[in-house]
Amino acid sequence: MKARITILGGDGIGPEVVAEGVRCLRTIASRFGHEFELVEADFGGIAIDRHGDPLPQATLEKCLESDAVLLGAIGGPKWSAPNAKLRPEAGLLRLRRELGVYANLRPVKVLGSLVDASPIKPHVLEGVDLVFVRELTGGIYFGEKRREPLHASDLCEYSVAEVERVTRVAARLAQQRRHKLTSIDKSNVLETSRLWREVVERVVRTEFPDVKLDHMLVDAAAMHLIRRPTDFDVLVTENMFGDILTDEASMLSSSLGMLPSASLGDSRRGLYEPIHGSAPDIAGKGIANPYGTIFSVAMLLRHSLGLTNEAEVLELAATRMIEEGVRTPDIALPGARSYSTHEIGDAIISALTH
Ligand code: NAD
Repeated sequence: MKARITILGGDGIGPEVVAEGVRCLRTIASRFGHEFELVEADFGGIAIDRHGDPLPQATLEKCLESDAVLLGAIGGPKWSAPNAKLRPEAGLLRLRRELGVYANLRPVKVLGSLVDASPIKPHVLEGVDLVFVRELTGGIYFGEKRREPLHASDLCEYSVAEVERVTRVAARLAQQRRHKLTSIDKSNVLETSRLWREVVERVVRTEFPDVKLDHMLVDAAAMHLIRRPTDFDVLVTENMFGDILTDEASMLSSSLGMLPSASLGDSRRGLYEPIHGSAPDIAGKGIANPYGTIFSVAMLLRHSLGLTNEAEVLELAATRMIEEGVRTPDIALPGARSYSTHEIGDAIISALTH
C-alpha cells in the first residue's frame, strides 16, 4: 500500500527516539512491499527557533495531508520561562485540535520480563493489561486562561457532544476486549464531572448494554491503579485526569519510555507519540528508551493504515528484544549491560529482517 506519514521529531530526546521509529517503518515497508512517503517537519521548540511559531502553517498542512503523524516529544527549559510568549506545548494542543484527534489511547501492558524493572511489587503487576482513553481536545487545558498580578484562572469546560464521542470510542474498545469500562471523574466536586458521569452513563447503558460500566473518583482511581491494576480493562477520563493518571500507570510497565499512544478522531488519520516528554536531562546522551515510540509506530500501522499483521510483527520483534535484555538504562536489569537508543533500533531491525 501507499501511505504518507509526517514525521515530527520535536525537541530533546524526541528526534532520537523518532529516528528509530522511522527506521522500523522503513524496514516494515521494504519487508512487506509498501511505499511509505515520510515527510519531516519542524514542530515544537525547534519550530519556535526557526519559524517563530511552534506549529508553522507548513507543518500543519503536511500533517493534514498525511495518513498519519508520528511525533517524538516537544518542550524543554529553553522555552519554559514563566513569561514566555510562545510555548511548544501550545503548538501541541493546537495540532491535536486541528487534526480533530479527541481520543487518546494509551495501552499499558506489563511484560513478564519487565516486572523486576518496575518499582511496584511483582504480584501486583502480574497480568496487567489495560487501556486508558483520555479525552484530548477539551477540558481545562483548552479553556480560557486569565492572569492578573494577584490572581489566575483556567476554565474547565465540557459539552455533551465532547463526552459522548469519547465515551463511544472507549465503549467500542471495551467491546473488543473484556467488556469492562471504568469512567473516572471528580463528580463529588466538579460540575463538568457531574455532566461527564451522566453522559457516560446514558451512552453506555443505551448504546453498549453488553459493556459493564463503573464510575470511580479520580483520587480513588490513583490509588487503585497501583494497588489493584488488574481490576481495570478500559478506563475513560477527561483530559487533565488522563494526563496525570497515565504517567502514574507508566510505572506499572517499568518506565515512562515504554508507553505508546494513539490519538484518534472520526477519520483514520491519527497522531502517534510515546507518552513521555522531551527528557532534557538525558537528551543527546543516546540512552533514551525508544520502545514507547516503536510501539507507537505499531499503533500507527494498525489504526491509521489498517496493517494489523505488520503491527503485530513489529510488536513481536520489539517484545522479543526486551525479553532478550536489549534494554536502555531505565529498564536494564541490575548488573546487565545496557544498550543505546540506536543499538535497540539495530536489534529490532535485525529481528525484522532475519
Ligand atoms: P519527561 O517525560 O520528559 O521526563 C520525565 C523523566 O522520565 C525524566 O527523568 C526523563 O529522563 C525520563 N524519561 C522520559 N522519557 C524517557 C525515555 N524515553 N527513556 C528514558 N527515560 C525517559 O517529563 P518532564 O521532564 O516533566 O518534561 C520535560 C519537557 O517535556 C517539558 O518541557 C514538558 O513540557 C515536555 N513534555 C512534552 C510532552 C509531549 O511532547 N507530548 C509530554 C510531557 C512533557
